[in-house]
Amino acid sequence: MKHNFNAGPCVLPKQAIESAINAIRDFDHTGIGILEISHRTPGWERIMAETEQLWRDLLNIPDNYAVIFLGGGASTQFFEVPANFLNKKAAYLQTGVWAKKAVKEAKLYGEVEVVASSEDKNYTYIPKGYKIPADADYFHITTNNTIYGTEIKEDMDCPVNLIADMSSDIMSRPVDVTKYAMIYGGAQKNVGPAGVTFVIVRKDLLGKVERKNPTMVDYRTHIGDEPKNNSMFNTPPVFPIFVMHETLKWVKEMGGLEAMHKRNMEKANLLYGEIDRNKMFVGTAEKDSRSIMNVCFVMAEQYKDKEAAFMEFAKSKGMVGIKGHRSVGGFRASIYNACPIESVQALVDCMKEFEKQNA
Ligand SMILES: *Cc1c(COP(=O)(O)O)cnc(C)c1O
Repeated sequence: MKHNFNAGPCVLPKQAIESAINAIRDFDHTGIGILEISHRTPGWERIMAETEQLWRDLLNIPDNYAVIFLGGGASTQFFEVPANFLNKKAAYLQTGVWAKKAVKEAKLYGEVEVVASSEDKNYTYIPKGYKIPADADYFHITTNNTIYGTEIKEDMDCPVNLIADMSSDIMSRPVDVTKYAMIYGGAQKNVGPAGVTFVIVRKDLLGKVERKNPTMVDYRTHIGDEPKNNSMFNTPPVFPIFVMHETLKWVKEMGGLEAMHKRNMEKANLLYGEIDRNKMFVGTAEKDSRSIMNVCFVMAEQYKDKEAAFMEFAKSKGMVGIKGHRSVGGFRASIYNACPIESVQALVDCMKEFEKQNA
């Protein structure tokens, strides 16, 4: 048995994978597979409308927000956000390389103020006590820093439009969408496979920039007059959206985001608990900044030479994808929604056993 801790793309609910396999053979009893249907067939329009409705139900998204599904990954949003929102100046919180990449793109469109950065300590903490300039068109944050395992776990009050990259913690907890002007992310960390990007945006804030944007870059292009017409200006990523639909159905069946959050907290507490207890390992993120989605840890100083041995040992026990990002080193276990607590327990058992044999 394999335990998948990949950071993204990553583990998905089994039932979503099963539905996807069946839909490839026969979509919606049409006798034609989902990879071969027209995106204008009524069956597909229904899936589009249902997928949007699942987003709205799970996150409690009000009607004045559009929910659209695009291509290009979260990285494309790094320039589409400033293209649609930046007139003069934007403010950014730099909590990792994804945030830094977003800053770089925004600079193509105007003045950017980085209000705080945790680069001085390799992004191991979420900065506090910074000031958001009142004249900024928006303030951009990355709620979960996938590489470093830090997370902003609360919806902050912000004096200007708040825009969040939630690629790796969307749907992991309830979110007060009304605090945000926009939320976006790649699907491949918590809501589906790679190939679709979600954008939740307050409609009345669009069309306020002075520049003319290319048609595909302007969010208004993708907002239809009814849900089945949203994201249908051009061919949407049909298959990734279908798998997202099935993944969100699972989230709903599991009890929605309150239940997801409870489950995620249990998993995170279990793993952090072992990291703090076990003398061979130490967590890399500051405790009050710890992410409940990506758990980063390294060998304790006196056991540094055991890193390769633990990796081998973990592999032999079925652990997959626990190598830390090259900029942090050590280990990273991504324990997204679909990662079962049994997998986390298996990793914890593995750490305990390794300690018994080596410490
Ligand atoms: C993975 C990730 C991205 C990049 O997403 P792509 O879809 O690959 O462009 C951006 N931000 C965060 C927080 C991520 O985890």
